[in-house]
Amino acid sequence: MPEPKFLADEMLGTLARWLRIMGYDTEYARDMADDEILQHAAKGDRFILTRDRELARRAGGRAMLVRSDDGAEQLEDVVRRFGLEFDEKRTRCTMCNSELAPVTPEEASEQVPPRVLERHNEFLACPSCGRMYWKGTHWTGIREHINEAVRKARGNSGPR
Ligand SMILES: [Zn+2]
Repeated sequence: MPEPKFLADEMLGTLARWLRIMGYDTEYARDMADDEILQHAAKGDRFILTRDRELARRAGGRAMLVRSDDGAEQLEDVVRRFGLEFDEKRTRCTMCNSELAPVTPEEASEQVPPRVLERHNEFLACPSCGRMYWKGTHWTGIREHINEAVRKARGNSGPR
């Protein structure tokens, strides 16, 4: 099965960001009418993630109705449904969904504070929006949040 790509509806912006961190191609449907969302998903071969029952019904097999309003549970449910995995090397830009590219500390130095440059030597940049990423102290919390969702999703999916 090819790796799933997603289109998250307007109410699922946070979920979209988590999926991007996990490395999955996830677009965010800001200011899109339901018809546009359906067309765009069909054209790009994307699964629609939605809180909207009617939209989910119209999309048929191309949508997942996200039932929980809790962010951690939403992630857990999507991970379970699609059997997603977390590969830190594939993290995408949380702002614009592009694949990140490694840059040298020299290249990063214009945008990164000196105290960060002192402590890190691996940097990633978004080729589309220019945002710079490094795995600082905040990364530990991000990693734990995702690993927790993956663990719970595996645990609740029954024996295989
Ligand atoms: Zn970007």
